[in-house]
Amino acid sequence: MNTPNTPAQAAAEHTTPAHGAPLTDRGGPAQPLLLVKDLKKYFPVRGGPLDRQKRFVHAVDGVSFAVPKGQTLGIVGESGCGKSTTARLVARLMEPDAGELIFDGEGVEEYGGLQLKEFRRSLQMVFQDSFASLNPRLTMQEAIAYGPRVHGVPAAQALAQARALLARVGLEPSQFGSRYPHELSGGQRQRVNIARALAFDPRLVILDESVAALDKSVQAQVLNLLQELKAERQLTYLFISHDLHVVHYLADQVMVMYLGQVVESGPVEKIYNGSAHPYTRALLSAVPSMDPAQRTEVSPLAGDPPNPINPPSGCRFRDRCPHAHALCAEKTPALQAVGGDIHHLAACHLNDLTSGHPLAGKELNP
Ligand code: SF4
Repeated sequence: MNTPNTPAQAAAEHTTPAHGAPLTDRGGPAQPLLLVKDLKKYFPVRGGPLDRQKRFVHAVDGVSFAVPKGQTLGIVGESGCGKSTTARLVARLMEPDAGELIFDGEGVEEYGGLQLKEFRRSLQMVFQDSFASLNPRLTMQEAIAYGPRVHGVPAAQALAQARALLARVGLEPSQFGSRYPHELSGGQRQRVNIARALAFDPRLVILDESVAALDKSVQAQVLNLLQELKAERQLTYLFISHDLHVVHYLADQVMVMYLGQVVESGPVEKIYNGSAHPYTRALLSAVPSMDPAQRTEVSPLAGDPPNPINPPSGCRFRDRCPHAHALCAEKTPALQAVGGDIHHLAACHLNDLTSGHPLAGKELNP
């Protein structure tokens, strides 16, 4: 085995893993890589010994979306809105209570045996905690080679691939390959976690707050690396983040969640420059600005989200919405096209001229 001397050499020697062909493109570029339909997950809540009523946290409550091939869907929302649970349900780290996943035109529920294994390899996840994601007893090259080895790749080949991947994520294999997780910085460990995900040659990578724990300068480097890898390997990303600046930079499409439901979705510029839901507008106005003229003294998003065990009737945002009307408590707004644009959806009576909301169709801020 020839060991690459430089990152560039090692990157050039990277080849597709030989541990089994990933699920191949079936429907061409027009077919979404992932379709999620009406996904639900309710967690039971334990009450006291006298509490006989069964109650549930409505963590994900009827979520549907599509991720086009080669694009990044950013999922945003406050903590507890259900974005990370959605990611875990898609990755099959937990079983949904209801809903359907369609991967490149084929229902995941119908997968069996080998195909289910290939689906799991085609989808990899990178978590926020770079340290907890790595086995402290494995060196970095062993950690990256571990998965392919378990799937039957000969040890020497898996190690060579691991070193090539280390090089590709900007870590010199001769310097970092034999190090342990505690000998690396947070940014370096997260690069290793990205390399580990790539070792399976995935088609979809779920990034769950993957850059949230990094310093701003390191975060920018890792984001640039993710962009390069996406173009180079035709990857599709599901990017979960509470940081709207980062999502603006990385995402092509954005989905906004509130209390387990989607309240708005659309192309990134539509969401950031023409959002149609008061919650999205409040989230965006809460982002700190470098421009003193843009700074606000009063938080546009007051209070906490309501209890997910007993969500409000009608629109779930109504307790915090400056434009709430009696109608908002009576009728649940449907997720529908904004101004006839079928790519931009929002769930708010204000966007429906026939809803009966007195402010429907009027210019409002936020
Ligand atoms: Fe506000 Fe009503 Fe729209 Fe909900 S439906 S966001 S409460 S205006």
